[in-house]
Amino acid sequence: MAHKIIERVDAHYEAREVPFGTVYEWHPAYVALECYCGEQLILTATSPKTVCRCGADVGGFVNDVQEREGRVPDRLTLEKRKAGQLANLLGEALPGEPSAALERLADEDRRQAEVGLVALMSMGKVSYKPLEELSPKDMPARAAAIRLRMTWLKERRDGWLARSSSRRT
Ligand SMILES: [Zn+2]
Repeated sequence: MAHKIIERVDAHYEAREVPFGTVYEWHPAYVALECYCGEQLILTATSPKTVCRCGADVGGFVNDVQEREGRVPDRLTLEKRKAGQLANLLGEALPGEPSAALERLADEDRRQAEVGLVALMSMGKVSYKPLEELSPKDMPARAAAIRLRMTWLKERRDGWLARSSSRRT
């Protein structure tokens, strides 16, 4: 007897068009199982449940989802980073922002993507590691590095929006 996999969905981004561009919504990976006791389970990377109500251990499926999910977004963005994604996200320098520093940042990101490196952030320090060598225990540090960059990009964009709307009034 074995568990039957009903559906397995990999983590992915879905693009959605909005008035000012495209937003990417993150859809986490999951696996839908039917236990041999008949119970149906949906397991995600954050499922606290690793045992079916009949006592069967399904922790292996949770680990599997975690491992797959951890690398998917980076695999997807690596190609975009190589093509200069960060330079596009940064756009033009804001008033008072040295454009040489922005170019250096964008350049560095592109070079790191070419050799398959991703940033990790732990204890306030940033380090780099090849994507394919990341282990599940690196995932919190990887998530922290992504959060840091997203926050920075968002604050920068908000500043830009605030400035351009105050110019209009
Ligand atoms: Zn069961």
